[in-house]
Amino acid sequence: MPNRRVLITGCSSGVGRALAVRLARRGHEVIASARSAAAVADLDVADRIGLDVTDPESVRRAARRLGAVDVLVNNAGRGMRAPVELAGDDDLRALWETNVLGPVRLIRAFLPAMRERGSGRIVNVSSVAGRRVMPLTGHYAASKHALEAIGEALRHEVRPFGVEVVTVEPGPVRTEFARNLLAADTTDPGPYREVAEWAAELGRAVNAPAQTAEEVADVVVAAVEAERVPLRIPTSPEAARAIADRTGRGDTEYEEWLYGVVPPPERPTGGGDAGTR
Ligand code: NAP
Repeated sequence: MPNRRVLITGCSSGVGRALAVRLARRGHEVIASARSAAAVADLDVADRIGLDVTDPESVRRAARRLGAVDVLVNNAGRGMRAPVELAGDDDLRALWETNVLGPVRLIRAFLPAMRERGSGRIVNVSSVAGRRVMPLTGHYAASKHALEAIGEALRHEVRPFGVEVVTVEPGPVRTEFARNLLAADTTDPGPYREVAEWAAELGRAVNAPAQTAEEVADVVVAAVEAERVPLRIPTSPEAARAIADRTGRGDTEYEEWLYGVVPPPERPTGGGDAGTR
């Protein structure tokens, strides 16, 4: 297997950091990035750069500096855990900028050279939430559904050029993710308190067990190195099962199943005014 030149976004912590370390140890030419270059300065990789996926000029600068890469791993992402009603525009813009427009910007910057060369791979890190929606994860799941749709269309579009696109789908991962949530000021869900408690109980019942960043990174390593990649790769059999719980059922059957796992609150009494934002 030839060594590859791999650009990874979001390497300051979690999956991106573990992936950078693992790919570099396996002899790949890794370019590790994070918003601040200082956050990746300690990584023993070929190159370390500051790259903010929400900033078009930062992406253009990276493309000018790096030239062509064999593999682009769109890993950077932010989470949000909030009732649909309570998330404000600024947080939603930041979410979509980071999870959707960011990867699209990176694709626009690095795909042309792959296309012209007739080879390359784009690995988008999505989530089980890219195909399954739970209460309080609506906005995050929407951003990952969008990333999955874009990845699927792109896969068809660039296949004739010898470029492959794959979407990786982790369930919960023990990283900094939960400490970096957007809309963190909605942790008091006000009138949605009982719904939030139900959502938490549902999560414990139906989510895949949490993986380590290293376990997820191993799956991404395989997606980087494989001869061919499928459309989607859940990062564990349990993550695949969590997706199949939803995709393997029609809407009505699914809701009956879900409400049977943990019955929803009938009519929440609420916790006061959640505030208007
Ligand atoms: P993490 O530890 O919080 O890492 C997220 C990375 O994204 C950090 O390196 C962060 O770097 C970077 N990032 C955030 N905003 C950025 C921006 N504007 N530009 C460039 N980089 C940015 O979380 P993680 O769990 O490793 O997340 C990695 C991916 O896995 C994400 O796409 C996430 O949606 C997905 N995922 C996570 C879980 C989970 O439970 N943890 C589950 C399913 C999917 P800086 O903030 O230092 O710049």
